[in-house]
Amino acid sequence: MSEALHVVCPHCDGVNRLPPARLADAPKCGRCKGPLFTGAPVALDEGRFAKHLSKSDIPLIVDFWAAWCGPCRAFAPVFKAAAARHEPRARFIKIDVDAAQGLAARYNVSSIPTLAVFKGGQIADRLAGALPGQQLEAWLAARI
Ligand SMILES: [Zn+2]
Repeated sequence: MSEALHVVCPHCDGVNRLPPARLADAPKCGRCKGPLFTGAPVALDEGRFAKHLSKSDIPLIVDFWAAWCGPCRAFAPVFKAAAARHEPRARFIKIDVDAAQGLAARYNVSSIPTLAVFKGGQIADRLAGALPGQQLEAWLAARI
């Protein structure tokens, strides 16, 4: 017996309950019928992030970034590739720190990019600075 997992839809933020065995089965949202995993990071604002953080049973991997930040832009394809590899074991999220200044303040994001892992509604680990793909893989492998 395994308990159902709560997975928050990246399109409509509907909360879906899924048996863990169905995660890899290209599940669709019960509310909007969209795919629950798209193999790409989802950009969230503060309100939407709060819902994902409070309702999601899978780890959230967050890239705090800004459009004017060159290292952030360089890191974006690395982060996207990681999303394609690790979904549905984790949800990959991008937070624009200029738009979500409250989140940046709450989590003391003082340099970008900053990567953070959230589990059970709490920040579990974080890292400042962009990583090359292989180092990102190693960092993620130890955390999700
Ligand atoms: Zn949906």
